Amino acid sequence: MNPSHAEDENVSPASAPVAETPFDYPSYIQGMRFFDPHIHMTSRTTDDYQAMADAGIVALIEPAFWLGQPRTGLATFKDYYSSLIGWERFRSSQFGIKHYCTIGLNSREANNVPLAEEVMELLPLFVNKEGVVGIGEIGFDDQTAAEDRFYRAQLELAKESGLPVQIHTPHRNKKEGTERSMAIALEHGLDPGMVIVDHNNEETVKSVLDQGFWAAFTIYPFTKMGNERMVEVVRQYGPERIMVNSAADWGISDPLAVPKTAALMVMRGIPLEQIRQVTYQNAIDAFAQSGQINSADFADGLTIDQSQKFNGNTILRGGQQPRPDKNSVLIK
Ligand SMILES: [Zn+2]
Repeated sequence: MNPSHAEDENVSPASAPVAETPFDYPSYIQGMRFFDPHIHMTSRTTDDYQAMADAGIVALIEPAFWLGQPRTGLATFKDYYSSLIGWERFRSSQFGIKHYCTIGLNSREANNVPLAEEVMELLPLFVNKEGVVGIGEIGFDDQTAAEDRFYRAQLELAKESGLPVQIHTPHRNKKEGTERSMAIALEHGLDPGMVIVDHNNEETVKSVLDQGFWAAFTIYPFTKMGNERMVEVVRQYGPERIMVNSAADWGISDPLAVPKTAALMVMRGIPLEQIRQVTYQNAIDAFAQSGQINSADFADGLTIDQSQKFNGNTILRGGQQPRPDKNSVLIK
């Protein structure tokens, strides 16, 4: 079983092709800025960073997650969290994109109880570091007792550290898992305004919004939400407390899902201010409650200095120019 974000029991059949030509979508979003609040850049390439910057993505949040196979020891968790606040943030800065992260124990690995207990001891060392904007992504996968236990423990950690929570809702039994995740957050006294419930669909969105939580939507090829469905969600529910993300990771996914969805919304007549809210501002408002986001840092783009180094390391190989010419057949 492929355990990426792509697994989903409610796979909808491929929708009819978009009438609009897919080739000129950038012309619909010229000059717009985007914030992708859920993307796993550790699994992506420099080409992705460059394409994202070109498409107007100025900032992103990388939640700590499952790497596709189980980790066997605490040290790899430690190195992974360190890379999210270190090397990966640096790599992002080299493309002019402000990088934030959320730190947490993912639901799958909560099921290795002895290791999960060690990870819980480690988390407090990371959650208050600069650029950590929440506890995430946490929640349920198979909805086991161990997942329940470590989800609750991390909600308490979020409360203690005053950070927002980024909830991964399960792919299987999504509606039940989403309701359960919210009920437990409320039981632990969390303010729903501090909780971002992710991977919503048409079945879950109403309850999430009605209870005062933020509703995030993952636009993911073939599963989860297609972006035509997303347009209809915004048409029906409006833009309040809704945000769009790509959740691009090591599976088949699209790091340009947010700008592409914005382009589709423009084509389909969603007002520009509403598009700005769901692809930029709402994510900032939700996660800025961490005290770690100042949008002035990225609103006009970061200054890129690709000659910078991180612990003596650069993304450039000896003598390289910062940006390859993507249109040239010659690779020099
Ligand atoms: Zn994720």
